[in-house]
Amino acid sequence: MDIEDFRIYGKQMVDYICKYLGDLEEKRVTSNVEPGYLTKLLPNEAPFDPEDWEQIKADIDSKIMPGITHWQHPHFHAYFPSGNSFPSILGDMLADAIGCIGFSWAASPACTELETIVLDWYGKAIGLPSNFITSQPNSKGGGVIESSASECVLVTMLAARNAAINYLKKENTQLDDSIFLPKLIAYCSKEAHSCVEKAAKILLVKLRELEPDENGSLRGEALQNAIEEDEANGLTPFFVSATLGSTGSCAFDNIEELGRLCVTQSCTWLHVDAAYAGSAFICPELKYLMSGIEYADSFNANPNKFLLVNFDCSVLWVKNRLKLTTALIVDPLYLQHANSNQAIDYRHWGISLSRRFRSLKLWFVMRKYGISGLQNYIRNHIKLATYFASLVRNDKRFEVMNDVVLGLVCLRLIAPDAINRNLLAKINLSGHLHMIPSCVRGKFVLRFCVVSERAKNKDMDYAWSVIKKFADEVMSSLDIPLTSLSESKAKRFSFTRSVSWDIYKKSLRKGSLYDGATPILVPDDEEMES
Ligand code: PLP
Repeated sequence: MDIEDFRIYGKQMVDYICKYLGDLEEKRVTSNVEPGYLTKLLPNEAPFDPEDWEQIKADIDSKIMPGITHWQHPHFHAYFPSGNSFPSILGDMLADAIGCIGFSWAASPACTELETIVLDWYGKAIGLPSNFITSQPNSKGGGVIESSASECVLVTMLAARNAAINYLKKENTQLDDSIFLPKLIAYCSKEAHSCVEKAAKILLVKLRELEPDENGSLRGEALQNAIEEDEANGLTPFFVSATLGSTGSCAFDNIEELGRLCVTQSCTWLHVDAAYAGSAFICPELKYLMSGIEYADSFNANPNKFLLVNFDCSVLWVKNRLKLTTALIVDPLYLQHANSNQAIDYRHWGISLSRRFRSLKLWFVMRKYGISGLQNYIRNHIKLATYFASLVRNDKRFEVMNDVVLGLVCLRLIAPDAINRNLLAKINLSGHLHMIPSCVRGKFVLRFCVVSERAKNKDMDYAWSVIKKFADEVMSSLDIPLTSLSESKAKRFSFTRSVSWDIYKKSLRKGSLYDGATPILVPDDEEMES
């Protein structure tokens, strides 16, 4: 493909994208293909001879699209939003064309400098304390774009582990770092995302998952009790991961209480994971949700969830960038450059060496929408979620199980879990809507998230009509009184927590039957189903 071909095919691809996004509503939300469907449609080997572009293009509709779950569909209400907007797509197009690998300032100065500037813009817009902002006088902190929130949690836990080991080694500098690993303990809420568990697993440290309060919020007292107990057993609390906007129910940990406790400890790093909710703090009326942020050592948000930026774009700010980089720095000769003393080299802030020019899309989005446009987008999602929750509350058969603060509503039929599971399965199998399950206060809930950029009241009305239709069906097919159905003992069921391999396998077997999407985790007991 030469440049003239690209000019033609590139324009055709933009037309294709416009048609795809414009016609989404006519499609099923979820794919209904069977596992392995694509293997049957594609050859076993790559073509030896070049193929015609027209031929390749034809395969998109016939082979790829049938296996797509349409995350940008107005009736997709699963997970959290997968950020998407035209300015962001244009940013990625340009970044791909420039094709630089910005691991150091010298590797492409604009790539590094734009990242610093845009992260300062964003950090200021959401109200981070000034010591997180690179350009503030005397600031030791700064922001960096990572590939995912999981990576943000991993690198901050790593930095905290490094700092804690250095602290413990003070009097025994000759000892090997690994000797201190069994002493280290990290904390998070049981509602925290499973990436915290994964980070602890990778870093070979203990993790204690604490019980949140009845609103899903991890409180200072729970942390204090755990720390006292663990210190009495000779352990060193080195890391707390607090969540603002939990995955399961969009609950908010009390970072004020947790933070006040962390600062009294000798080496306890407080990280705040606000993967979804973080971008909402761009609205002044929501900043109260991050009260206590001044205690945090680090904070992450995903503009690729709730700020209309396409994946990948997870943003991490640290108060002390030296603590992060000392844990990650390796400096071979071939990567050194003359300006490393005056410039940021983001390769020391994360795991990978190679980095895409991701700040371009964030820059385009922030400029094209302006802060006011982004605030409107977030406020619209909140307004719609509140409206949707009111529809649910008006039906006496249902209850809303979470505090609807942002765009997430957790709802359930006031009935045993098995009924709710059937309801979700039927909805998802219909392809009319897509939601995923979660667990709130031990109960199975249907998790409904406002996702689409241009979501409207009519989409909420539509979603509610589909849910009600299947609720009628599920309830009318019941020939046993609700009271005779035992409540599930599904304490291990959760969107975010891990389970044993056996249970996981079981969930994969049943997943498509139940929710039209895998994986979901299945309770230990045999439930009434079908
Ligand atoms: N933290 C929270 C609170 C999340 O909701 C999620 C995903 O939904 C993650 C972390 C993981 O995000 P990522 O996929 O960017 O690693």
